Amino acid sequence: MNQQIKQTILDKIKQYDRIVVSRHIRPDGDCTGATKGLVEILRLTYPQKDIRLINREYAQYMAFLGGEDEQVEDEFYADALMIVLDTASTDRIDNPKYVLAKELIKIDHHLDIKPYGDVSWVEDQRSSACEMVVDFYYTFRDELKINKEAATYLYTGMVTDSGRFKYAISGETMRCAGVLLDVGIDTEWLYANLNLDDYGYLKYQASVYKNLQRTRGGVAWLFVSKRMQKRFGLTLESASNSVSLLDGIKGSIIWVAFIENPKTGAIRIRLRSRFVHVNKLAEKYNGGGHECACGASLKSKREIKAFLADADALITAYKATHKGWM
Ligand code: AMP
Repeated sequence: MNQQIKQTILDKIKQYDRIVVSRHIRPDGDCTGATKGLVEILRLTYPQKDIRLINREYAQYMAFLGGEDEQVEDEFYADALMIVLDTASTDRIDNPKYVLAKELIKIDHHLDIKPYGDVSWVEDQRSSACEMVVDFYYTFRDELKINKEAATYLYTGMVTDSGRFKYAISGETMRCAGVLLDVGIDTEWLYANLNLDDYGYLKYQASVYKNLQRTRGGVAWLFVSKRMQKRFGLTLESASNSVSLLDGIKGSIIWVAFIENPKTGAIRIRLRSRFVHVNKLAEKYNGGGHECACGASLKSKREIKAFLADADALITAYKATHKGWM
């Protein structure tokens, strides 16, 4: 698929001596793995090129994959090719210097609502951006090199963005995962890093289930207040992970975590669903993402009621007009 675009991207990579790779703000496993994986593949294949991985924030729970490069002077960008992965719109790029680069390439698997870049390769049916990087590697496997480190970064993103191979997967997903496993990944080490929780986090989970609520139509939701974050010693990141605790409730085909920012009072929304698509709902609230996994934000907790009313209307209408959901 998209052979011509992939060829153009490879030609651009070959053409430049300097390449900067960046990803989206509030990093997760996919954008971290995709950028680190691509950088490793390119450094192995083209050791003479100066390739940098530059972003501002770093995901604490991805720290086991290692660090990134420091920001460089503006001059570096003037002759550089910039590759941005897993980032739907320019306002979400975690490197404001992308504007200085000579050319910009977008590689992404989100819905392409705000296109950008001199070259854009978007496949929104892909389970992760990592899957796209693997596909890119595999397409040019006679030319590109890969090693265990790159395979591990990419597998991490595939595993996390697909909810451990549960969401949005295809035959392609598993074929790409197979390519990485053939390179050799220590999956026991990887899953230990991804799955083990601190004792305190389990106590927090107990409180999540105690405080869980549902709308009349069945939207499961949770408000992680700043008080709760303080009480359980949560970082904003670990508080945000609570959304995955709501994904196994029968009939709750939409679920939401509202996370209060202790400093600003703004509310981060993490919105998930099965069967029904929620991206339009997220877009209404300043967000976006995928059909069944979106993010959005509210200025304050006073807006939660309106959001839940919209979510409830959506779930109710869906249930009334569709069969087979659970
Ligand atoms: P999150 O809940 O933050 O993991 O977001 C779920 C998906 O939606 C991820 O793929 C994000 O990159 C994407 N996303 C989150 N927030 C936004 C936003 N404000 N605009 C567009 N996409 C978003």
